[in-house]
Order: sequence, then C-alpha cells, then structure tokens
Amino acid sequence: MGSKENPVPVPKMNSTNLYVTTTQIIMKSDPTNPNSWQDLYRLVPYLRNSLCCVVCSYLLVDPLTPMIAQCQHHLCRPCKGGRKKIKPACEGCKDCKDYMENKRFTNTAAML
Ligand SMILES: [Zn+2]
Ligand SMILES: [Zn+2]
Repeated sequence: MGSKENPVPVPKMNSTNLYVTTTQIIMKSDPTNPNSWQDLYRLVPYLRNSLCCVVCSYLLVDPLTPMIAQCQHHLCRPCKGGRKKIKPACEGCKDCKDYMENKRFTNTAAML
C-alpha cells in the first residue's frame, strides 16, 4: 500500500525502443519483488509482436519494414504480398508498396 508507481506507458513504440525499454525494466527490477515484474509482463507481448511477421506470425527473418506508414507492421521478405493477419486491416501498409529493408530494424531483429 502507499506509493503507487506509474506503470510504464505502452505508446506506439518501434521495436528498438521496446527492446531498450524492456531491457531497462529487467535491469531495474527487484527479483524479490513480484510487483516489479508487472511492467515486464505487459511489455513483452508488445516486444514480441513488434518483431513478428504480420503474415506468418513467426519471428522476422530478413525483415521488410513499411517506409512511409508508421504502423510497425513488419514482414519477412518471402511473405511480401502475403495476406496479413491484422484485424481490422491496416490502412497504412495494406498494399505492401512501400516495404523496404531497414538496416536499423534488421539489426534489432538480429539481436534475438
Ligand atoms: Zn513471414
Ligand atoms: Zn500496417
């Protein structure tokens, strides 16, 4: 009881930010205090989603990223043009036109 810490917000973060934030939470967490892991439980699914292909749902290999759309819907190169498992359909990346390789993102995915 008493001081209630503000939960870490989950804004539209890109995978690099999510990766860093999640790592920071792990580093700052108190292993003896289960409450300190709450934020982690919340963030890890977002992190995983941000590194998964929206077509095949597996972790990204050789990822492509929408360059104009800011929706963070990545897909693997062989999945380009495939049917996305997004509901409702995303307006930003619907036609897969602006998907490009993104070195920064590729490096984040490669850390896994
Ligand atoms: Zn895929
Ligand atoms: Zn999208």
